[in-house]
Amino acid sequence: MQAPVRRTPVLIAGAGVAGALTALELAHHGVPSLVVERARKRSRQADLLLISGRGLELLRRLGLADRVRAGGLAPGSAAEIIWGPALDRPPVLVWRLPSPSELRGEYAAAADGSAPIEPYVLISGPELIARLRRALRECPAVDLRTGWTLVDAADRPDHATATVIEAESGRHHLIEADYLVGCDGAQSTVRRCAGFAMEPFNPADPQFTVYFASAGVARRRDGPFAWITAGATVIAGHDGDRCVAQLPVGPGDEAVTDHADLVRRRLGLSAEPSEIQAVVQRDTVPAVARAYGMGRIFLAGQAAHPTDSPGDDVDTCIGDAVGLGWRLAAAVHGWAGAHLLHGYTRERRGRAVADRIRASRALATRGRFRRLVEEGADQQRLEAALRANEPRLDLAGTDPVALAGTPGHRLPAFRLDGGDQLFDRLGPQFTLVDLTGRQSGRPLVTAARKRGIPVRHLPAGGPAVPDRWPGRLLLVRPDQQVAWCSSGATLADLDDVLDDATGARERIHENT
Ligand SMILES: Cc1cc2nc3c(=O)[nH]c(=O)nc-3n(C[C@H](O)[C@H](O)[C@H](O)COP(=O)(O)OP(=O)(O)OC[C@H]3O[C@@H](n4cnc5c(N)ncnc54)[C@H](O)[C@@H]3O)c2cc1C
Repeated sequence: MQAPVRRTPVLIAGAGVAGALTALELAHHGVPSLVVERARKRSRQADLLLISGRGLELLRRLGLADRVRAGGLAPGSAAEIIWGPALDRPPVLVWRLPSPSELRGEYAAAADGSAPIEPYVLISGPELIARLRRALRECPAVDLRTGWTLVDAADRPDHATATVIEAESGRHHLIEADYLVGCDGAQSTVRRCAGFAMEPFNPADPQFTVYFASAGVARRRDGPFAWITAGATVIAGHDGDRCVAQLPVGPGDEAVTDHADLVRRRLGLSAEPSEIQAVVQRDTVPAVARAYGMGRIFLAGQAAHPTDSPGDDVDTCIGDAVGLGWRLAAAVHGWAGAHLLHGYTRERRGRAVADRIRASRALATRGRFRRLVEEGADQQRLEAALRANEPRLDLAGTDPVALAGTPGHRLPAFRLDGGDQLFDRLGPQFTLVDLTGRQSGRPLVTAARKRGIPVRHLPAGGPAVPDRWPGRLLLVRPDQQVAWCSSGATLADLDDVLDDATGARERIHENT
């Protein structure tokens, strides 16, 4: 059964983190979208995700930070990352994460603007998705269709087309869109149909993810924890008795049917967990798309950089969605230069590649740890090996202090004279932060408006503005990154500045 052809400015396949946020970012810029999502029901699997301070800053722009935080673990709870050969043996190394509440105080006291204005949050994956989908349903610019599966996609000279099947009625919908975005996860159909080339990174690292209930495991520590043993990682203490174990699939493991026994052996438990709730086998080859866009089709999130290794991927998905959303909106509104959308691949691919490199280092540390345990190394040797390569989570996710405020990097954050956060006063599009005290940036704003480029002029200042910032005039992109800065003494060629910022000519910043 074929329904009439639908037309939309942007069609998004998948309403996971990347798809939901791409739609909400587009809506933030006044661009409507149609979002098709295959799943009809909320997943019940209790994966725990960490969204860094920087990720929360990006959500705060969209009015989502409080909503997401409200679904997360209590801000006072301090999680632990533990290394130890087995759960029934003493740990070798315990790394306690400062709680979000502790970090909030620390960030507020930091004076150089490099600290995020929000601390990180730990939240279960399904809870995050449920909250984002609620935001999609409440947003008048978003048409969310669940139970709709994209099965085919193609790029045409002036639009993209997709075929979508509605599960309930079996109806086929042909959809024409100015742009199509594949946010349909690691096994992306959009990616396959459009023929995106992938660069493989590490070899596949097949994993069983086993969801189980065990009071004995979950209550082993006072709060949430991730325990890395020689043969597995278990996350627990965040959702009652529910636990999630990631077990690398070793030789012969594929045939295993008794997952309770496998969990017991890999975690070094004296008894099997009583209730296995689900087992998922994953064998994605970690890869990064060579380009994130082809014609009118784009990829974001795991569709662009599939992996099974749990890491800080969710932040990368948030950054992709924001980075693509504002650029697509500029294209729909007609002020994007020819290179603006190319900049999306350059910036976001760099971030995914950096993630892959970090993930392979983390895997190597786990491998070394496992070998030492197998060799029977004592506690002291194990601890020394871990301390030499101590794995760290980046809870802030912001740029190093030296880079803050330079083009291609995050605008430093500070409080304005009245107490507001500078970030809360930025416009949805470009903002010219003018610290000259005499509104020297006005000609740039006038020139931008003449060209139809939306810019908010934000004269600001006060004792909290550090003198050593690289510029007194900062042109800030919608994603809070500095596009251009100047001392404000003399203004450069205004058209050149605007050409660079809007991608009318190519400007390359080393930028993640
Ligand atoms: C066990 C586990 C633990 C993890 N732990 C962490 C962690 O600690 N920290 C971290 O940062 N990240 C972690 N991650 C990764 C993180 O969950 C993902 O990176 C992120 O959620 C991916 O978001 P996405 O939107 O790109 O893709 P997905 O979340 O996969 O969303 C894709 C969506 O597209 C839909 N879809 C698929 N195909 C179609 C189609 N043809 N048509 C329509 N819809 C379709 C799917 O139903 C899904 O809703 C973990 C992942 C797993 C599996």
